Amino acid sequence: MFIKIKDLELRKLEFDETLPPGTIDFGEDLTQTAPLKSSGRAELLRENRGGREIVEDIRIVGGFSTEIETHCARCLEPVDNKVAEEFDLVYRPQGVDKRGDEASINQAETEIGYYQGEGMLLEDVLKEQILLALPVKQVCNAACKGLCPHCGTNLNTGSCHCVNTMADPRWSALEDIRKKLER
Ligand SMILES: [Zn+2]
Ligand SMILES: [Zn+2]
Repeated sequence: MFIKIKDLELRKLEFDETLPPGTIDFGEDLTQTAPLKSSGRAELLRENRGGREIVEDIRIVGGFSTEIETHCARCLEPVDNKVAEEFDLVYRPQGVDKRGDEASINQAETEIGYYQGEGMLLEDVLKEQILLALPVKQVCNAACKGLCPHCGTNLNTGSCHCVNTMADPRWSALEDIRKKLER
């Protein structure tokens, strides 16, 4: 859904969207596995910057819920995440803050994003919020043993014999010395 400045100039925009998986491209590592539900409203905030300069900000207030599949950082198995958050965001026209007059009023209160041109896509806002809601590094289970770094066996479900012969570089250095001495 495109949120148009022109529409917001007339009235607030209420939204209540259900986006099926695939609507938003989350890249290769993340998969949306349930409908993404989002509702809220978008409105125009007119920032008076002195004189006749008025900046038209878009404020988007709402919430979302969905499920995102990621992968365990240790064993790479899929991990399902239920994510649901509320948000209250302000977007300014791109370029408006680039003149060094950092004296804008709300700077400290809200995290400011930027939009370009006629408006912005609700989908972009949701994508960003979902990415922020997901943990940076995820494990399937705190006790996950991960993959064997040598043969790739998933050590949660199987075992291998690599551990016994695992080479520690310090030991192999000693081993080299021992071999030399034996000659
Ligand atoms: Zn794991
Ligand atoms: Zn192994």
